[in-house]
Amino acid sequence: MATADIQAFLDDLYAQLQPLRQGQLACYIPELAKANPDWFGISVVTLDGRSFDVGDVQQTFTIQSISKVFVYAMALEDYGREKLLKKVGVEPTGDPFNCLIRLDEDSKRPDNPMVNAGAIATTSLITGQDPADRLNRLLAMFERYIGHEVFIDMSTFLSEKATGHRNRAMAHLMLNFGMIDEPLDDALDLYFQQCSVLVNTHDLAVMAATLANRGINPITGTQAVDAAHVRDILGVMYTCGMYNFAGEWAFRVGIPAKSGVSGGILAVVPNQAGIAVFSPPLDSHGNSVRGLKVFEALSQEYGFHLFDLSLGRCRFTAALGEDS
Ligand code: GLN
Repeated sequence: MATADIQAFLDDLYAQLQPLRQGQLACYIPELAKANPDWFGISVVTLDGRSFDVGDVQQTFTIQSISKVFVYAMALEDYGREKLLKKVGVEPTGDPFNCLIRLDEDSKRPDNPMVNAGAIATTSLITGQDPADRLNRLLAMFERYIGHEVFIDMSTFLSEKATGHRNRAMAHLMLNFGMIDEPLDDALDLYFQQCSVLVNTHDLAVMAATLANRGINPITGTQAVDAAHVRDILGVMYTCGMYNFAGEWAFRVGIPAKSGVSGGILAVVPNQAGIAVFSPPLDSHGNSVRGLKVFEALSQEYGFHLFDLSLGRCRFTAALGEDS
């Protein structure tokens, strides 16, 4: 049976990669250094709501930079693409995610919404009457993608708030150039809160499947984001989602994706599936070591690379379909 083959492929991949001992835990946020380097989960969710899970898929962790995709999507809905483009660009940087001074020389915009400066600028645009209202809108947005109530990990939030001097410095720099407005602490708190949203690997795969399914959560049927914005969201993930590894990722794996320093990677195979991997040890770019290997293998096995998809060489639907 084909779905049994997909599950067996994931089980094998998990068994092969579980013994890997490369990579380091992110420790610049003290709470993240407490993660267990052995945690490892892979989850694939299809557009008809089937899921293939292996490993620690129920282990919760903070979403970190993966949140940037969804907050950008919210800003697209709040402002529209042209207005948002004036505030945050869509150009990959080739620099690390927390790179400090990279505002475009002429426009003073941060390069893109997937690096911290661009993400903080994006978060500062989220509309609402007061901080509580903005946070509630943000949590409601995550809940549409995930399909259940979400919570913020208070210790991680406080840990980031106490130690996030680099992010604070970026916010001040952007304030200096008139790219974001006072009060900075409100925007920074909301940014630290969005990074501290608790998810598990399966949740991330459902979020990815929602984007793969034109913005409709395949489990709940809820429209999480207007389908009209999905192309822009995936475009920015494809070019900027994997930090300064984005080019090599596009070449080797070819799936719009976003990683975070807690060890998650979420990837969207349009019209096919949402995929997520969680494994905390990171490489020098800040991407999960096991996660990269899982995606290389999956892309190879099922023809998930966008240029395989567009050439009709994706083998996933066929693999699923043979089952019925
Ligand atoms: N909260 C983290 C930070 O701002 C997010 C970084 C990440 O996941 N790359 O530094």
